[in-house]
Amino acid sequence: MAQLLSQMTGDLPPEWVAIPPEILQLLVPVNVRTLHTAKGEEKIVSARGIITPQQKRTIDAVLASRWFLVKNGGALPRARCMRCKRYHQYITLACIEKPHNGLGEVVGLIERVTEIGTRRQKIGHRQYRDVVMTETQIDAVELGPIVPITPSEARGFIDRINAKGYGWQGAIPDPHAGLLVPA
Ligand SMILES: [Zn+2]
Repeated sequence: MAQLLSQMTGDLPPEWVAIPPEILQLLVPVNVRTLHTAKGEEKIVSARGIITPQQKRTIDAVLASRWFLVKNGGALPRARCMRCKRYHQYITLACIEKPHNGLGEVVGLIERVTEIGTRRQKIGHRQYRDVVMTETQIDAVELGPIVPITPSEARGFIDRINAKGYGWQGAIPDPHAGLLVPA
């Protein structure tokens, strides 16, 4: 992940905020650690390039502060919109370009949960309830390249999505906030 981050910062698009050098310095993987024994002696142990929990939180904060759109399709034919049956240029929500940030959400894009009906489940003596049955399907949709956008642009897309009655689930970009780094 730290390698990915350095690649991202090495060719930084203007839409994304640069990481201050002092924070980059904090993200260097730890190769050795100095421990202090009960007698007050210093002991150096190898940790073989791990990242610490704080480094992980910082990297997540950096990635979360960088917003982008995902193009619909690459070499394969583009996926058709289930809502309007057209082919959008970008991955959309409510037929509006859907802003993304971080890494985890992109993995979620290819997973689709479909309601396939209900079944009656016995929960006690002569007591039943209807349970919704779902089917999880992993779609072979090819995601195209990402297109960086500013937090303000992401906010604009989210406002348009919400105006169509969709409640936005996830982080709301603050155009005035810089790079947020948790302690
Ligand atoms: Zn559509």
